[in-house]
Amino acid sequence: MYDDVTVVAGGGGFIGGHLVAHLVDEGRRVRAVDRKPPTEWYQVHSDVDNRSLDLQQIEACHEAVNGASEVYNLAADMGGMGFIENNKALCMLSVLINTNLLLAGREAGVDRYFFSSSACVYAAEKQVSSDVTALREEDAYPAMPEDGYGWEKLFSERMCRHFLEDFGVTTRVARYHNVYGEHGTYDGGREKAPAAICRKVIQAKLSGNHEIDVWGDGEQTRSFMYISDCIEGTSKIMASDITEPINLGSSELVSINQLVDIVEEIAGLRMKRNYLLDAPRGVRGRNSDNTLIRKYLDWEPSVSLKEGIERTYRWIHDEISAK
Ligand code: NAD
Repeated sequence: MYDDVTVVAGGGGFIGGHLVAHLVDEGRRVRAVDRKPPTEWYQVHSDVDNRSLDLQQIEACHEAVNGASEVYNLAADMGGMGFIENNKALCMLSVLINTNLLLAGREAGVDRYFFSSSACVYAAEKQVSSDVTALREEDAYPAMPEDGYGWEKLFSERMCRHFLEDFGVTTRVARYHNVYGEHGTYDGGREKAPAAICRKVIQAKLSGNHEIDVWGDGEQTRSFMYISDCIEGTSKIMASDITEPINLGSSELVSINQLVDIVEEIAGLRMKRNYLLDAPRGVRGRNSDNTLIRKYLDWEPSVSLKEGIERTYRWIHDEISAK
């Protein structure tokens, strides 16, 4: 059993909820902190110190990290393209969370601090073709990230770097590429493509109306990382000596149409696809270059999209059926 507390900021969210479960399994004393009350969290673990705090406030950050040795910052205002394209100021205000948590962590003398950055830090001009060259870490500069959300992530990455260089706080930064899985958002406007497509196919199956709206022409490409790979990679990066931001993503590239094919196959039906060409689409193509993570950790995400989507589909199906 560990004596010190491990803090998960954003512990009520999708990735935070899974990380808390993993840390509890490791025998850690965990404090999960989120702005939402625990009644609205995706997962609530009874043997955890669950707190509802707004981490944009410095006082809340001091309370959150009190007695902590490790802090994982997964708290942010975020969602899929539909959310981040229309809520740039809200996304940028997450800068307060990371800045105040770093300040509080430094004062409390935490041993290690993790920041969840994003593939949205990469320059848009490197993502204009669906036939992508996978993004290497150095491609974030010269900087022209996703407006709003991406700029916040890039700034906060650099804040972590300078807290390490100037104040000696041991910071680790992972750039997540599209994470999906059970116990996450699948409706309401913040959901991302894998969960949204699963939900639409399930609803079509249940209603008998076999049509699906696809954002864009469906030929935009992405890679998607299953949640268990995200949690394993996050733990490895936190424990490592990697001081630079590093990609944490799958390198299995698919088009959105191929993602729909996979979900249709799981559901056992074919849909008529309506392409919404004016809907938010994000960059044309994006993949994770995993050369660095393989070099440093001798590891990379490996759960296949088919396997991960199958589990996610079953979970969303059960959730919708139980309503
Ligand atoms: P999520 O929205 O499910 O979880 C984020 C949590 O942060 C939410 O529960 C929210 O209530 C909480 N939060 C927001 N503002 C807060 C505040 N002021 N104080 C306390 N809590 C606050 O998102 P997620 O998918 O679990 O993402 C976790 C982290 O990973 C985020 O930083 C996100 O930007 C990053 N990320 C996620 C993905 C992905 O595909 N899910 C990709 C790249 C980066």
